[in-house]
Amino acid sequence: MWNIPLTSRVGNGYVYSSQFCSPEEAETELRQHLNVSDETPARHLTMPVGRLQKHWHNNCVAIGLAQGFIEPLEATALMLVQYGIYQLSSRLGEPVTTISRSQYNKEMKRMFDGIRDYIVAHYYLNTRTDTPYWQACRHDIRVPANLSLLVNAWDGPGEFEEALDSIDEQLVYLTPSWYCILAGMGRFKSDAVNLPDPDTAAGIQQYLTSTVAKHFRGRLYPLS
Ligand SMILES: Cc1cc2nc3c(=O)[nH]c(=O)nc-3n(C[C@H](O)[C@H](O)[C@H](O)COP(=O)(O)OP(=O)(O)OC[C@H]3O[C@@H](n4cnc5c(N)ncnc54)[C@H](O)[C@@H]3O)c2cc1C
Repeated sequence: MWNIPLTSRVGNGYVYSSQFCSPEEAETELRQHLNVSDETPARHLTMPVGRLQKHWHNNCVAIGLAQGFIEPLEATALMLVQYGIYQLSSRLGEPVTTISRSQYNKEMKRMFDGIRDYIVAHYYLNTRTDTPYWQACRHDIRVPANLSLLVNAWDGPGEFEEALDSIDEQLVYLTPSWYCILAGMGRFKSDAVNLPDPDTAAGIQQYLTSTVAKHFRGRLYPLS
């Protein structure tokens, strides 16, 4: 559910999957949550999710909802609008060619797909067991290839940093964001959190040094 103050009113909404909840159930739940009667009107909207194959075709460029839509809660739409305008305007100073259109389309697709990977991670990595919806997100969704690669590297014995490097050019959310989402969702192997005795400075120093050596090899200056 979302709640957004606008200039003249407060907007409230409930995003749900029609596979798990009917429009009537969603409306009833939202009304109860907001404590509003049936007299307050509710609008039901459907979301076609996806992106265009070609954002720029001949002399027509799709920007905003016309170019695609990923998900309402992470709120990446305006960034995509701005990015599309920036990418377009930076190509308009020179004669438009098939190559410039194709580069634009490639870049917008990379942006959409990279954002999709990170957003899907929120759903796929959830640990909720309270509803069939959240369980289906964990077990039944099609996991994008890059997300699958990163989660396997995180879970397995391989180097997570190497996995990130291997898809560096496709990443939209950079390294810190991936650590945040994976750790923030509590995805740790049972033996992964081997914290030192917090009472000894030497133990903490040793833990930090070994962690930096393991995860940021050659990227940071050694701790002194
Ligand atoms: C409450 C709310 C909060 C949001 N918060 C965020 C956020 O925090 N971050 C984020 O990234 N995104 C957010 N979004 C999503 C974002 O606002 C939209 O994705 C974005 O505005 C879409 O831009 P657009 O130009 O494609 O469409 P719109 O902004 O809907 O613009 C379409 C325009 O076309 C006009 N129009 C429609 N039909 C006609 C017609 N026949 N003739 C002439 N004009 C017409 C409309 O009046 C409108 O001005 C939010 C959306 C809502 C509703």
